[in-house]
Amino acid sequence: MTVALHDAATLDAVDPLAAYRDAFVAADDESIVYLDGNSLGRPPLAVADRMTQFITESWGTRLIRGWDEGWFEAPLEIGDRLGHLVLGAAPGQTIVADSTTVSLYKLIRAALAARPDRSRIVIDRANFPTDRYVVQGIAAETGAQVDWIDTDPATGVTVADVAAVLGPDTAVVVLSHIAYRSGYIADIPAITAATHAAGAVVVWDLCHSAGVLPLELDAWGVDFATGCTYKYLNGGPGSPAFLYVRAEHIPTAVQPIPGWMGVKDSFLMGPDYQPADGIRRFISGTPPILAMMPLSVSLEIIEQVGIDAIREKSIALTDYAIELYDQILAALGVTLSSPREADVRGGHITVDHPEFPVLISSLWERGVIPDFRPPTGIRLGMSPLSTSFTEVRRAIVAIGEELIARTERSNL
Ligand SMILES: *Cc1c(COP(=O)(O)O)cnc(C)c1O
Repeated sequence: MTVALHDAATLDAVDPLAAYRDAFVAADDESIVYLDGNSLGRPPLAVADRMTQFITESWGTRLIRGWDEGWFEAPLEIGDRLGHLVLGAAPGQTIVADSTTVSLYKLIRAALAARPDRSRIVIDRANFPTDRYVVQGIAAETGAQVDWIDTDPATGVTVADVAAVLGPDTAVVVLSHIAYRSGYIADIPAITAATHAAGAVVVWDLCHSAGVLPLELDAWGVDFATGCTYKYLNGGPGSPAFLYVRAEHIPTAVQPIPGWMGVKDSFLMGPDYQPADGIRRFISGTPPILAMMPLSVSLEIIEQVGIDAIREKSIALTDYAIELYDQILAALGVTLSSPREADVRGGHITVDHPEFPVLISSLWERGVIPDFRPPTGIRLGMSPLSTSFTEVRRAIVAIGEELIARTERSNL
């Protein structure tokens, strides 16, 4: 296919972050076009040495003494670093410990407990499955009722959608900052303020925003938040999620999985659960120290680059993807299911076509790796630190070629 395009090579040549691609394993391997860093980020190169160092110098030789020499504090220390560099959170409010799913469970239960005279949970039907399942499970377990918001699938949840369901019995609102399908950015400050005005609290899921755009949790008045570290934060498969609780809620917060690692003195082995005074009370059992080591490496990269520069490249990448969509895919009957306006668009876009459910495997076979989101969506995630404009162009040209090939075959 020949198309006149905004030149990808030129965009790469002037990209101020282009050199950071070299900081990731195999990012220069031209046989792979990777547009799924929003599902699983690439590993930073320095991770291999950091893991070896941890195994030989810490686990292997310090052995159990490691707990006194940093491991015990690691979930809080890495949490504080992440809070500072990524979340807009002052120290003492963030840990990394469990999966996003488990963190959501802890936070939503803590939020309900903070509003004991109220029993309704608000969530939208377009939210990520795990968020909906956790809310349904908590409703079944506690007798809370769920108020569902139906959003426009092409956009996402708005302050008007939320205001329409808030009531005197609303305890907690559970929403995702960036819609996992459309990439629409919800207005955290406005929705949080509306929720507070109704006397409720809010739990924000930041899986698709942490590491790709600036967050200001403290300034926005956010009560509770959690999110993955294996997507834009490149922590690796199964790296623990972060969990944020606003300082004013911590002293009275009650989480539903009391454990020995979240108490005032773990090694006292006391008869009764005495939650730690600080954010440590949200830890339950032994946190995955080994699995949080890669995250400490990627935070160093983010510290060098700065989140504002990351957001700038993210916008340039998604702008370019939409430009290519307009030039190549629109005429082939593909629809754009993401916002055109950069200020309400996150780090990925989704395009839809009825042929995509069968086309996705041909793309993967030729080394072009976006992901598929039912019923007919291909989601193009452009992790700013490790994705080139050339990759974006190659992916969209490949989608166009595969669509044309299928149409030609079915016309024979
Ligand atoms: C990826 C993602 C999750 C994943 O939850 P895990 O417990 O880490 O598997 C949850 N919520 C959203 C919005 C996501 O995008």
